[in-house]
Amino acid sequence: MTVSGSCHCGAVQFEAAYAPTDINDCQCSHCQKRGVLWAYYSPRDVSVTGSFSTYSWGVKRTRFHFCTVCGCTTHWTAADPKRDRMAINTRLLPPEAVAAAVVRQSPGPR
Ligand SMILES: [Zn+2]
Repeated sequence: MTVSGSCHCGAVQFEAAYAPTDINDCQCSHCQKRGVLWAYYSPRDVSVTGSFSTYSWGVKRTRFHFCTVCGCTTHWTAADPKRDRMAINTRLLPPEAVAAAVVRQSPGPR
């Protein structure tokens, strides 16, 4: 079952191939300020449409994307295109899409 989310204004939309089962409440300095809850996917399993901006920090392995209109953080993608990993911000999914997922904390990105 696919799950769909969007930023607050709706300018950025995403769809994942299946509902998340495991959500990371990342404790790194950036994610704490953003208030995001990540679910990880292969980029093959997620589609994103709309106009977003990108922020990278530190060693810049990860590109954080946010809506250019309302500012919601929507997803991140890997700077290395060979890395088979990305994440969506599950705060932007409807509650029923994450109801069965387990939320864990990690000290940093995983
Ligand atoms: Zn928006």
